[in-house]
Amino acid sequence: MTETFDYDLITLGAGSGGLSIIERAASYGQRCAVVERGKMGGTCVNVGCVPKKIMWFGANLAHMIGDAKSYGFDLAHNGFDWSQLVARRETYIDGINHWYHGYLKDLGVDEIEGDASFVDAHTIAVNGTHYTAKHIAIATGTRPQVPDIPGAEHAITSDGFFELTSQPQRVAIAGSGYIAVELAGVLNALGSEVCLYLRKHHVLGDFDSLLSTTLFEEITKSGIEVRTECEITRIERDAEGRISLQDSHGVGMQNLDQVIYAIGRGPDLGGLNLEQAGVELNSRGYIETDTYQCTNQPHIFALGDVTGRAPLTPVAIAAGRRLADRLYDGQTERHLDYELIPSVVFSHPPIGTVGMTEQAARAEYGERVKIYQTRFTAMYNSISGHDVPTAMKLVCLDEEEKVIGCHLIGPGVDEMLQGFAVAIRMGACKRDFDDTVAIHPTSSEELVTMR
Ligand SMILES: Cc1cc2nc3c(=O)[nH]c(=O)nc-3n(C[C@H](O)[C@H](O)[C@H](O)COP(=O)(O)OP(=O)(O)OC[C@H]3O[C@@H](n4cnc5c(N)ncnc54)[C@H](O)[C@@H]3O)c2cc1C
Repeated sequence: MTETFDYDLITLGAGSGGLSIIERAASYGQRCAVVERGKMGGTCVNVGCVPKKIMWFGANLAHMIGDAKSYGFDLAHNGFDWSQLVARRETYIDGINHWYHGYLKDLGVDEIEGDASFVDAHTIAVNGTHYTAKHIAIATGTRPQVPDIPGAEHAITSDGFFELTSQPQRVAIAGSGYIAVELAGVLNALGSEVCLYLRKHHVLGDFDSLLSTTLFEEITKSGIEVRTECEITRIERDAEGRISLQDSHGVGMQNLDQVIYAIGRGPDLGGLNLEQAGVELNSRGYIETDTYQCTNQPHIFALGDVTGRAPLTPVAIAAGRRLADRLYDGQTERHLDYELIPSVVFSHPPIGTVGMTEQAARAEYGERVKIYQTRFTAMYNSISGHDVPTAMKLVCLDEEEKVIGCHLIGPGVDEMLQGFAVAIRMGACKRDFDDTVAIHPTSSEELVTMR
Protein backbone atom coordinates (compact mmCIF):
# COMPACT_ATOMS: atom_id res chain seq x y z
CA MET A 1 0.00 0.00 0.00
CA THR A 2 1.44 3.46 -0.86
CA GLU A 3 1.30 5.99 1.91
CA THR A 4 -0.59 9.20 1.08
CA PHE A 5 0.58 12.59 2.24
CA ASP A 6 -1.02 16.04 2.28
CA TYR A 7 1.91 17.38 0.26
CA ASP A 8 4.86 16.21 -1.82
CA LEU A 9 7.03 18.85 -0.17
CA ILE A 10 6.74 21.06 2.90
CA THR A 11 9.41 23.67 3.47
CA LEU A 12 10.07 25.08 6.92
CA GLY A 13 10.97 28.75 6.48
CA ALA A 14 10.15 31.13 3.64
CA GLY A 15 13.59 32.69 3.33
CA SER A 16 16.00 32.46 0.42
CA GLY A 17 16.39 28.68 0.71
CA GLY A 18 12.81 27.69 1.47
CA LEU A 19 11.30 29.84 -1.26
CA SER A 20 13.76 28.71 -3.91
CA ILE A 21 13.14 25.00 -3.48
CA ILE A 22 9.38 25.41 -3.17
CA GLU A 23 9.19 27.56 -6.29
CA ARG A 24 11.18 25.07 -8.37
CA ALA A 25 9.30 22.06 -6.96
CA ALA A 26 5.94 23.67 -7.73
CA SER A 27 7.10 24.39 -11.28
CA TYR A 28 7.62 20.61 -11.63
CA GLY A 29 4.00 20.05 -10.62
CA GLN A 30 4.57 19.03 -6.99
CA ARG A 31 1.97 19.78 -4.29
CA CYS A 32 3.80 22.17 -1.98
CA ALA A 33 3.38 24.14 1.22
CA VAL A 34 5.70 26.54 3.00
CA VAL A 35 5.54 27.30 6.73
CA GLU A 36 6.71 30.74 7.85
CA ARG A 37 6.37 32.37 11.25
CA GLY A 38 7.59 35.80 10.17
CA LYS A 39 7.64 37.76 6.95
CA MET A 40 7.98 36.33 3.45
CA GLY A 41 11.55 36.43 2.19
CA GLY A 42 13.23 35.68 5.52
CA THR A 43 16.44 37.34 6.66
CA CYS A 44 17.72 38.55 3.29
CA VAL A 45 14.62 40.49 2.33
CA ASN A 46 13.58 41.79 5.75
CA VAL A 47 16.64 42.16 7.98
CA GLY A 48 19.63 41.31 5.80
CA CYS A 49 20.93 41.92 2.30
CA VAL A 50 18.12 44.15 1.04
CA PRO A 51 17.74 46.74 3.84
CA LYS A 52 21.51 46.65 4.38
CA LYS A 53 22.22 47.45 0.73
CA ILE A 54 19.72 50.32 0.76
CA MET A 55 21.46 51.82 3.79
CA TRP A 56 24.79 51.31 2.00
CA PHE A 57 23.49 53.22 -1.02
CA GLY A 58 22.52 56.03 1.36
CA ALA A 59 25.98 55.98 2.91
CA ASN A 60 27.60 56.09 -0.54
CA LEU A 61 25.54 59.15 -1.37
CA ALA A 62 26.81 60.84 1.77
CA HIS A 63 30.37 60.21 0.55
CA MET A 64 29.52 61.47 -2.93
CA ILE A 65 27.97 64.66 -1.60
CA GLY A 66 31.31 65.22 0.13
CA ASP A 67 33.14 64.53 -3.15
CA ALA A 68 30.89 66.75 -5.27
CA LYS A 69 32.73 69.98 -4.45
CA SER A 70 35.91 68.61 -6.05
CA TYR A 71 33.90 68.00 -9.20
CA GLY A 72 32.82 71.63 -9.29
CA PHE A 73 29.42 71.39 -7.62
CA ASP A 74 28.38 74.02 -5.11
CA LEU A 75 26.03 71.96 -2.97
CA ALA A 76 24.37 72.96 0.26
CA HIS A 77 24.07 69.92 2.50
CA ASN A 78 20.99 70.49 4.61
CA GLY A 79 21.10 67.33 6.65
CA PHE A 80 19.99 63.76 6.41
CA ASP A 81 16.60 62.35 7.37
CA TRP A 82 17.10 58.78 8.60
CA SER A 83 13.38 58.21 9.08
CA GLN A 84 12.66 59.12 5.46
CA LEU A 85 15.24 56.66 4.15
CA VAL A 86 13.93 53.95 6.49
CA ALA A 87 10.33 54.61 5.42
CA ARG A 88 11.21 54.31 1.72
CA ARG A 89 13.27 51.21 2.43
CA GLU A 90 10.41 49.54 4.28
CA THR A 91 7.92 50.43 1.54
CA TYR A 92 10.24 48.75 -0.94
CA ILE A 93 10.49 45.67 1.28
CA ASP A 94 6.71 45.56 1.80
CA GLY A 95 6.43 45.43 -1.98
CA ILE A 96 8.71 42.37 -2.09
CA ASN A 97 6.74 40.67 0.74
CA HIS A 98 3.49 41.37 -1.04
CA TRP A 99 4.84 40.14 -4.37
CA TYR A 100 5.87 36.83 -2.80
CA HIS A 101 2.36 36.16 -1.47
CA GLY A 102 0.92 36.62 -4.96
CA TYR A 103 3.71 34.61 -6.59
CA LEU A 104 3.21 31.62 -4.28
CA LYS A 105 -0.53 31.75 -4.87
CA ASP A 106 0.01 31.76 -8.63
CA LEU A 107 2.30 28.75 -8.29
CA GLY A 108 -0.35 26.93 -6.24
CA VAL A 109 1.85 26.78 -3.13
CA ASP A 110 0.00 26.82 0.21
CA GLU A 111 1.29 29.30 2.76
CA ILE A 112 0.99 28.16 6.35
CA GLU A 113 1.56 30.92 8.91
CA GLY A 114 3.07 30.05 12.26
CA ASP A 115 5.79 28.11 14.06
CA ALA A 116 6.57 24.73 12.57
CA SER A 117 7.54 21.78 14.71
CA PHE A 118 8.01 18.11 13.91
CA VAL A 119 5.46 15.62 15.22
CA ASP A 120 7.18 12.72 13.50
CA ALA A 121 9.45 12.26 10.51
CA HIS A 122 6.67 13.00 7.99
CA THR A 123 4.39 15.29 10.04
CA ILE A 124 4.64 18.99 10.88
CA ALA A 125 2.44 20.77 13.42
CA VAL A 126 1.57 24.44 13.02
CA ASN A 127 -0.85 26.10 15.44
CA GLY A 128 -2.17 22.67 16.43
CA THR A 129 -2.91 21.48 12.88
CA HIS A 130 -0.94 18.56 11.46
CA TYR A 131 0.38 18.48 7.89
CA THR A 132 2.09 15.47 6.33
CA ALA A 133 4.58 15.46 3.49
CA LYS A 134 6.61 12.96 1.52
CA HIS A 135 9.60 15.30 1.64
CA ILE A 136 10.42 18.02 4.16
CA ALA A 137 13.05 20.73 3.63
CA ILE A 138 14.34 22.59 6.67
CA ALA A 139 15.41 26.14 5.81
CA THR A 140 14.92 27.97 9.10
CA GLY A 141 18.11 30.02 8.87
CA THR A 142 20.05 31.53 11.76
CA ARG A 143 19.58 34.05 14.53
CA PRO A 144 22.00 36.74 15.73
CA GLN A 145 23.83 35.96 18.94
CA VAL A 146 24.30 38.16 21.99
CA PRO A 147 26.84 37.33 24.73
CA ASP A 148 25.83 36.53 28.25
CA ILE A 149 27.00 39.70 30.01
CA PRO A 150 25.22 41.93 32.52
CA GLY A 151 22.91 44.31 30.69
CA ALA A 152 23.01 42.44 27.35
CA GLU A 153 19.27 43.07 27.06
CA HIS A 154 19.99 46.77 26.45
CA ALA A 155 21.91 45.95 23.27
CA ILE A 156 20.43 45.27 19.85
CA THR A 157 21.60 43.14 16.92
CA SER A 158 21.36 43.72 13.17
CA ASP A 159 17.65 42.85 13.48
CA GLY A 160 17.21 45.78 15.89
CA PHE A 161 19.33 48.04 13.69
CA PHE A 162 16.76 47.66 10.93
CA GLU A 163 13.99 48.63 13.37
CA LEU A 164 15.58 51.99 14.18
CA THR A 165 13.35 54.80 12.96
CA SER A 166 15.67 57.55 14.14
CA GLN A 167 19.39 57.84 13.70
CA PRO A 168 21.48 56.75 16.68
CA GLN A 169 24.05 59.51 17.16
CA ARG A 170 26.51 57.59 19.33
CA VAL A 171 26.89 53.87 18.75
CA ALA A 172 29.13 51.07 19.96
CA ILE A 173 29.36 48.03 17.70
CA ALA A 174 30.88 44.74 18.83
CA GLY A 175 32.12 42.38 16.14
CA SER A 176 34.71 42.01 13.41
CA GLY A 177 32.77 40.12 10.77
CA TYR A 178 31.15 41.44 7.64
CA ILE A 179 27.94 42.59 9.31
CA ALA A 180 29.86 44.57 11.95
CA VAL A 181 32.05 46.38 9.42
CA GLU A 182 29.11 47.05 7.11
CA LEU A 183 26.97 48.60 9.86
CA ALA A 184 29.95 50.60 11.16
CA GLY A 185 30.62 51.99 7.67
CA VAL A 186 27.00 52.93 7.08
CA LEU A 187 26.56 54.66 10.44
CA ASN A 188 29.85 56.49 10.13
CA ALA A 189 29.09 57.75 6.62
CA LEU A 190 25.66 58.94 7.69
CA GLY A 191 27.17 60.99 10.51
CA SER A 192 26.90 58.83 13.63
CA GLU A 193 29.79 58.58 16.04
CA VAL A 194 30.90 54.94 15.99
CA CYS A 195 33.14 52.90 18.26
CA LEU A 196 34.01 49.40 17.03
CA TYR A 197 34.97 46.75 19.58
CA LEU A 198 37.19 43.99 18.19
CA ARG A 199 37.99 40.88 20.18
CA LYS A 200 41.28 40.52 18.31
CA HIS A 201 43.40 42.96 16.35
CA HIS A 202 41.71 42.72 12.97
CA VAL A 203 38.46 42.78 11.05
CA LEU A 204 37.37 40.03 8.63
CA GLY A 205 39.83 37.52 10.08
CA ASP A 206 38.98 34.76 7.58
CA PHE A 207 39.54 36.95 4.54
CA ASP A 208 42.72 37.41 2.54
CA SER A 209 45.17 39.52 4.57
CA LEU A 210 45.23 42.20 1.84
CA LEU A 211 41.52 42.78 2.37
CA SER A 212 41.48 42.66 6.14
CA THR A 213 44.49 44.94 6.59
CA THR A 214 43.37 47.46 3.96
CA LEU A 215 39.87 47.64 5.41
CA PHE A 216 41.24 47.94 8.94
CA GLU A 217 43.36 50.94 7.83
CA GLU A 218 40.38 52.53 6.11
CA ILE A 219 38.11 52.03 9.11
CA THR A 220 40.59 53.71 11.44
CA LYS A 221 41.18 56.52 8.91
CA SER A 222 37.44 57.10 8.48
CA GLY A 223 36.91 58.43 11.97
CA ILE A 224 35.52 55.24 13.47
CA GLU A 225 37.09 54.68 16.87
CA VAL A 226 38.49 51.16 17.04
CA ARG A 227 39.15 49.34 20.31
CA THR A 228 41.17 46.21 19.65
CA GLU A 229 41.53 43.11 21.82
CA CYS A 230 38.68 44.50 23.81
CA GLU A 231 35.25 43.23 24.79
CA ILE A 232 32.23 44.92 26.29
CA THR A 233 31.75 43.49 29.78
CA ARG A 234 28.70 45.36 31.13
CA ILE A 235 25.91 47.52 29.69
CA GLU A 236 23.61 49.82 31.65
CA ARG A 237 20.67 51.99 30.66
CA ASP A 238 19.56 54.98 32.76
CA ALA A 239 16.05 56.34 33.29
CA GLU A 240 16.39 58.63 30.24
CA GLY A 241 17.30 55.67 28.06
CA ARG A 242 20.98 56.64 27.74
CA ILE A 243 23.30 53.69 27.57
CA SER A 244 26.72 53.31 29.17
CA LEU A 245 29.15 50.43 29.02
CA GLN A 246 32.32 49.06 30.53
CA ASP A 247 34.94 47.15 28.58
CA SER A 248 37.62 44.58 29.34
CA HIS A 249 40.28 47.32 29.40
CA GLY A 250 38.43 48.93 32.30
CA VAL A 251 37.37 51.84 30.10
CA GLY A 252 33.79 53.08 29.94
CA MET A 253 31.63 54.78 27.35
CA GLN A 254 28.70 56.98 28.31
CA ASN A 255 25.83 58.62 26.55
CA LEU A 256 25.38 56.00 23.89
CA ASP A 257 22.17 55.69 21.88
CA GLN A 258 22.75 52.08 20.89
CA VAL A 259 25.04 49.13 21.44
CA ILE A 260 24.92 46.74 18.49
CA TYR A 261 26.14 43.16 18.64
CA ALA A 262 27.29 41.63 15.36
CA ILE A 263 29.37 38.81 16.80
CA GLY A 264 27.94 35.90 14.83
CA ARG A 265 24.81 33.90 14.27
CA GLY A 266 23.63 30.46 15.34
CA PRO A 267 21.14 28.00 13.78
CA ASP A 268 17.47 28.73 14.32
CA LEU A 269 16.23 25.37 15.57
CA GLY A 270 14.19 26.46 18.59
CA GLY A 271 10.82 24.75 18.78
CA LEU A 272 11.42 22.57 15.71
CA ASN A 273 11.48 19.38 17.81
CA LEU A 274 14.05 17.85 15.49
CA GLU A 275 14.36 14.86 17.83
CA GLN A 276 10.78 13.85 16.91
CA ALA A 277 12.03 13.38 13.35
CA GLY A 278 15.40 11.94 14.34
CA VAL A 279 17.34 14.66 12.49
CA GLU A 280 20.94 14.95 13.67
CA LEU A 281 23.10 18.01 14.20
CA ASN A 282 26.84 18.33 13.63
CA SER A 283 29.40 19.28 16.28
CA ARG A 284 28.79 22.99 15.61
CA GLY A 285 25.06 22.61 16.27
CA TYR A 286 23.96 23.03 12.64
CA ILE A 287 21.92 20.46 10.73
CA GLU A 288 24.32 17.95 9.22
CA THR A 289 23.88 17.62 5.45
CA ASP A 290 25.74 15.75 2.75
CA THR A 291 26.62 16.83 -0.79
CA TYR A 292 22.97 16.46 -1.82
CA GLN A 293 21.52 18.48 1.11
CA CYS A 294 20.29 15.22 2.72
CA THR A 295 20.08 14.95 6.48
CA ASN A 296 20.47 11.58 8.15
CA GLN A 297 16.77 11.02 7.39
CA PRO A 298 16.49 10.10 3.69
CA HIS A 299 13.37 12.19 2.99
CA ILE A 300 14.32 15.24 5.12
CA PHE A 301 16.64 17.85 3.65
CA ALA A 302 18.23 21.03 4.96
CA LEU A 303 19.54 24.01 3.07
CA GLY A 304 20.69 27.56 3.57
CA ASP A 305 22.19 29.05 6.72
CA VAL A 306 20.79 26.34 9.03
CA THR A 307 23.36 23.94 7.55
CA GLY A 308 26.22 26.26 8.56
CA ARG A 309 27.73 26.17 5.07
CA ALA A 310 28.54 29.44 3.25
CA PRO A 311 25.71 31.50 4.79
CA LEU A 312 24.78 33.66 1.80
CA THR A 313 21.52 34.17 -0.03
CA PRO A 314 22.63 32.96 -3.48
CA VAL A 315 24.05 29.82 -1.85
CA ALA A 316 20.71 29.02 -0.20
CA ILE A 317 18.91 29.71 -3.49
CA ALA A 318 21.28 27.61 -5.57
CA ALA A 319 21.09 24.70 -3.11
CA GLY A 320 17.28 24.84 -3.11
CA ARG A 321 16.90 24.93 -6.88
CA ARG A 322 19.36 22.12 -7.44
CA LEU A 323 17.69 19.99 -4.80
CA ALA A 324 14.29 20.41 -6.50
CA ASP A 325 15.89 19.58 -9.88
CA ARG A 326 17.28 16.39 -8.38
CA LEU A 327 14.14 15.30 -6.52
CA TYR A 328 11.48 16.23 -9.06
CA ASP A 329 13.14 16.48 -12.47
CA GLY A 330 15.25 13.35 -12.58
CA GLN A 331 18.57 15.26 -12.54
CA THR A 332 20.00 12.61 -10.28
CA GLU A 333 23.47 14.09 -9.73
CA ARG A 334 22.38 17.72 -9.44
CA HIS A 335 23.82 19.41 -6.35
CA LEU A 336 25.54 22.61 -5.33
CA ASP A 337 29.31 22.78 -5.54
CA TYR A 338 30.35 24.79 -2.47
CA GLU A 339 33.78 25.64 -3.95
CA LEU A 340 34.60 29.04 -5.47
CA ILE A 341 31.62 30.93 -4.08
CA PRO A 342 32.13 34.64 -4.74
CA SER A 343 30.97 37.14 -2.14
CA VAL A 344 30.97 40.84 -1.49
CA VAL A 345 31.24 42.82 1.73
CA PHE A 346 29.42 46.13 1.49
CA SER A 347 31.98 47.93 3.59
CA HIS A 348 33.42 51.35 2.80
CA PRO A 349 35.19 50.68 0.49
CA PRO A 350 33.56 47.42 -0.60
CA ILE A 351 35.29 44.07 -0.86
CA GLY A 352 34.92 41.28 -3.41
CA THR A 353 36.46 37.88 -2.87
CA VAL A 354 36.46 34.44 -4.45
CA GLY A 355 38.60 31.36 -3.99
CA MET A 356 41.58 30.68 -1.77
CA THR A 357 43.19 33.35 0.34
CA GLU A 358 46.95 33.73 0.02
CA GLN A 359 47.33 32.38 3.57
CA ALA A 360 45.33 29.23 2.80
CA ALA A 361 47.01 28.69 -0.57
CA ARG A 362 50.51 29.00 0.91
CA ALA A 363 49.61 26.62 3.72
CA GLU A 364 48.38 24.05 1.20
CA TYR A 365 50.71 24.56 -1.78
CA GLY A 366 53.76 26.39 -0.37
CA GLU A 367 56.20 27.51 -3.07
CA ARG A 368 53.80 26.52 -5.85
CA VAL A 369 51.82 29.71 -5.19
CA LYS A 370 52.50 32.93 -7.08
CA ILE A 371 50.89 36.21 -6.08
CA TYR A 372 50.10 39.19 -8.28
CA GLN A 373 49.11 42.29 -6.40
CA THR A 374 48.45 45.95 -7.01
CA ARG A 375 47.35 48.99 -5.06
CA PHE A 376 46.33 52.34 -6.54
CA THR A 377 43.95 55.24 -6.19
CA ALA A 378 41.03 55.07 -8.61
CA MET A 379 40.65 58.00 -11.00
CA TYR A 380 37.39 59.08 -9.34
CA ASN A 381 39.09 59.30 -5.96
CA SER A 382 42.17 61.06 -7.37
CA ILE A 383 39.91 63.89 -8.49
CA SER A 384 37.64 63.90 -5.44
CA GLY A 385 40.55 64.01 -3.05
CA HIS A 386 38.70 61.46 -0.90
CA ASP A 387 41.71 59.22 -0.60
CA VAL A 388 40.32 55.68 -0.82
CA PRO A 389 42.66 52.89 -1.87
CA THR A 390 41.90 50.14 -4.35
CA ALA A 391 43.88 46.92 -3.87
CA MET A 392 43.76 43.70 -5.86
CA LYS A 393 45.36 40.29 -5.53
CA LEU A 394 45.41 37.21 -7.72
CA VAL A 395 46.47 33.95 -6.12
CA CYS A 396 47.91 31.67 -8.80
CA LEU A 397 49.08 28.06 -8.76
CA ASP A 398 51.94 26.24 -10.47
CA GLU A 399 53.61 26.94 -13.81
CA GLU A 400 50.32 27.39 -15.63
CA GLU A 401 49.37 30.03 -13.05
CA LYS A 402 45.82 28.86 -12.64
CA VAL A 403 43.94 31.59 -10.77
CA ILE A 404 42.68 30.03 -7.54
CA GLY A 405 41.88 33.22 -5.66
CA CYS A 406 40.89 36.78 -6.49
CA HIS A 407 40.61 39.39 -3.74
CA LEU A 408 39.55 42.96 -4.34
CA ILE A 409 38.91 46.03 -2.22
CA GLY A 410 38.01 49.46 -3.51
CA PRO A 411 35.18 51.48 -4.99
CA GLY A 412 33.27 49.49 -7.59
CA VAL A 413 34.68 46.05 -6.83
CA ASP A 414 31.25 44.89 -5.64
CA GLU A 415 30.06 45.01 -9.26
CA MET A 416 33.39 43.86 -10.68
CA LEU A 417 33.79 40.40 -9.21
CA GLN A 418 30.89 38.44 -10.70
CA GLY A 419 32.35 38.15 -14.21
CA PHE A 420 35.82 37.30 -12.95
CA ALA A 421 34.24 34.62 -10.75
CA VAL A 422 32.84 32.98 -13.91
CA ALA A 423 36.30 32.96 -15.49
CA ILE A 424 37.92 31.52 -12.36
CA ARG A 425 35.25 28.85 -12.10
CA MET A 426 36.00 27.90 -15.70
CA GLY A 427 39.65 27.40 -14.73
CA ALA A 428 41.16 30.62 -16.07
CA CYS A 429 44.91 31.08 -15.80
CA LYS A 430 46.82 34.34 -15.42
CA ARG A 431 47.58 34.16 -19.15
CA ASP A 432 43.82 34.25 -19.91
CA PHE A 433 43.54 37.38 -17.81
CA ASP A 434 46.54 38.91 -19.66
CA ASP A 435 45.09 37.97 -23.05
CA THR A 436 41.80 39.69 -22.30
CA VAL A 437 41.80 43.20 -23.72
CA ALA A 438 41.37 45.80 -21.00
CA ILE A 439 38.40 48.15 -20.72
CA HIS A 440 39.73 51.65 -20.31
CA PRO A 441 39.55 53.73 -18.21
CA THR A 442 38.26 51.53 -15.40
CA SER A 443 39.62 50.10 -12.18
CA SER A 444 38.86 46.57 -13.35
CA GLU A 445 41.39 46.83 -16.19
CA GLU A 446 44.09 46.54 -13.52
CA LEU A 447 43.04 42.92 -13.06
CA VAL A 448 44.00 42.05 -16.62
CA THR A 449 47.21 44.09 -16.69
CA MET A 450 48.89 42.96 -13.48
CA ARG A 451 52.60 42.13 -13.60
C1 LIG B 1 22.58 41.95 8.33
C2 LIG B 1 22.73 40.86 7.29
C3 LIG B 1 23.21 41.18 6.04
C4 LIG B 1 23.33 40.20 5.08
N1 LIG B 1 23.81 40.56 3.86
C5 LIG B 1 23.96 39.62 2.90
C6 LIG B 1 24.42 39.98 1.60
O1 LIG B 1 24.73 41.15 1.34
N2 LIG B 1 24.52 39.02 0.67
C7 LIG B 1 24.19 37.71 0.94
O2 LIG B 1 24.28 36.87 0.05
N3 LIG B 1 23.75 37.33 2.16
C8 LIG B 1 23.63 38.27 3.14
N4 LIG B 1 23.15 37.91 4.37
C9 LIG B 1 22.89 36.47 4.63
C10 LIG B 1 21.53 36.06 4.07
O3 LIG B 1 20.53 36.89 4.58
C11 LIG B 1 21.28 34.61 4.43
O4 LIG B 1 22.34 33.83 3.95
C12 LIG B 1 19.98 34.08 3.84
O5 LIG B 1 18.89 34.84 4.24
C13 LIG B 1 19.80 32.61 4.26
O6 LIG B 1 18.58 32.13 3.79
P1 LIG B 1 17.86 30.94 4.54
O7 LIG B 1 16.70 30.56 3.70
O8 LIG B 1 18.84 29.90 4.92
O9 LIG B 1 17.37 31.55 5.93
P2 LIG B 1 16.49 32.84 6.25
O10 LIG B 1 16.48 33.81 5.15
O11 LIG B 1 16.99 33.31 7.56
O12 LIG B 1 15.03 32.28 6.39
C14 LIG B 1 14.64 31.45 7.44
C15 LIG B 1 13.17 31.68 7.68
O13 LIG B 1 12.67 30.62 8.50
C16 LIG B 1 11.73 31.15 9.40
N5 LIG B 1 11.64 30.21 10.53
C17 LIG B 1 12.60 29.87 11.41
N6 LIG B 1 12.16 28.93 12.24
C18 LIG B 1 10.87 28.68 11.89
C19 LIG B 1 9.88 27.80 12.39
N7 LIG B 1 10.12 26.97 13.41
N8 LIG B 1 8.66 27.80 11.80
C20 LIG B 1 8.40 28.64 10.77
N9 LIG B 1 9.30 29.48 10.25
C21 LIG B 1 10.53 29.49 10.79
C22 LIG B 1 12.28 32.49 9.78
O14 LIG B 1 11.26 33.35 10.25
C23 LIG B 1 12.87 32.96 8.45
O15 LIG B 1 11.95 33.74 7.71
C24 LIG B 1 22.98 38.85 5.36
C25 LIG B 1 22.49 38.53 6.62
C26 LIG B 1 22.36 39.52 7.59
C27 LIG B 1 21.83 39.15 8.94
